Amino acid sequence: MSLSFRVEKTVGTARRGRLLTPHAEIETPVFMPVGTVASVKAVSQDILEDLGAQIILGNTYHLYLRPGVAGVRRLGGLHGFMSWNRAILTDSGGFQVFSLSQLRKLNEEGVTFRSHLDGSSHFFSPESAMEAQIGLGADIIMAFDECTEYPADQTRVRESMELTARWAARSQKYFEEHKHEVPWTRVGADAFVRPAEPSSPSGPLEPSPEQEQFQAAPDSGLRPSAGTNASVPAWADQTQSLFGIIQGGMDRALRKESAERTREIGFPGYAIGGLSVGEPRGLTREIVESTLEHLPKDKPRYLMGVGTPEEIVEYASLGVDMMDCVLPTRAARHGLLFTSEGKVSIKQLRFAQDQGPLDPNCDCRVCRRYSRAYLRHLYASNEVLAQVLNTIHNLSFYLDTMRRVRHAISLGEESRFLSDIWSRSKS
Ligand SMILES: [Zn+2]
Repeated sequence: MSLSFRVEKTVGTARRGRLLTPHAEIETPVFMPVGTVASVKAVSQDILEDLGAQIILGNTYHLYLRPGVAGVRRLGGLHGFMSWNRAILTDSGGFQVFSLSQLRKLNEEGVTFRSHLDGSSHFFSPESAMEAQIGLGADIIMAFDECTEYPADQTRVRESMELTARWAARSQKYFEEHKHEVPWTRVGADAFVRPAEPSSPSGPLEPSPEQEQFQAAPDSGLRPSAGTNASVPAWADQTQSLFGIIQGGMDRALRKESAERTREIGFPGYAIGGLSVGEPRGLTREIVESTLEHLPKDKPRYLMGVGTPEEIVEYASLGVDMMDCVLPTRAARHGLLFTSEGKVSIKQLRFAQDQGPLDPNCDCRVCRRYSRAYLRHLYASNEVLAQVLNTIHNLSFYLDTMRRVRHAISLGEESRFLSDIWSRSKS
């Protein structure tokens, strides 16, 4: 079993659950920091661990262009390459192809695009996007989809949604045929960090007890049978999990149809894509709420690319289990900090003599140690440390917000959930 999900408690539409992946058990609802190029900008992996990040994101488009999938695969996939033993999710590359690259040409087969780095020409199809994500080796990978632009007319949204549905089926077919090529090798009790060639799953490791037994007694009658694969180590049945993506623009009927078609193909988890693309926030919420109704209750639901602290609490209350957003990290680098008392722009002169902590209600290592005056000075002086400390606080605030959401669901306190947590994170 490479992925299991269990809903442990529900309050209204909100739910608390446990998602078990090959590299980590994840408590949901979960916020996933974005590590675009195998790095959550400005924060090292050991600090991410201290902050309690259970799963982080990598962007396939960026990693494919630089440093390249083959090199990462040889270094043990993203886990080995970046020395991160908890869970990772990669996106399909679709969103970045459509938002970052120039001169893209789309047809049934896939999309040809030019790199935003050097203008070189590349091609992504459902198959090549799966191949790239298998090589990167994240625990959870995403079907290749077309992210429909906003606004778009209904004909265009329908055609795009149908293309995504056909690509989802192709993504799954390729994944099922190639999922055992993931570059994981088990080291110790429960970590998969070392590289291994697909053809030799034991890689550089000692033979497993089963293998030793088999090798020591070649004539004992023990033979690997096709049914039990006795020569294959027990961990070898661990694979990545592929999630489907619901599209359909801002049209509720098309979202419903996309959900149904994606469910027909069948995935262990479902994502809602194509939101936060410029539409009003009220519309985002409406589409999320209506799409969730058409997703299976016993599978994880991932809302891609949202949002503010207020929004992630709101979406968790609607029943979303997983969310990611560049906002906490990107805003931090611009001196914009999320606190229990609202948004703080640390560059302001009024903080120059402020000896208080950034957020008196935050227990993060930055708020425990440094003053607003110092953080303001670092930012005004363009010190690298400003980016580091600001990012640590913002991520801590997001992760702590989700921790409090999970706690409130456990206590079954819907009123407190909404009135306390939600209002505290409003900015
Ligand atoms: Zn803090």
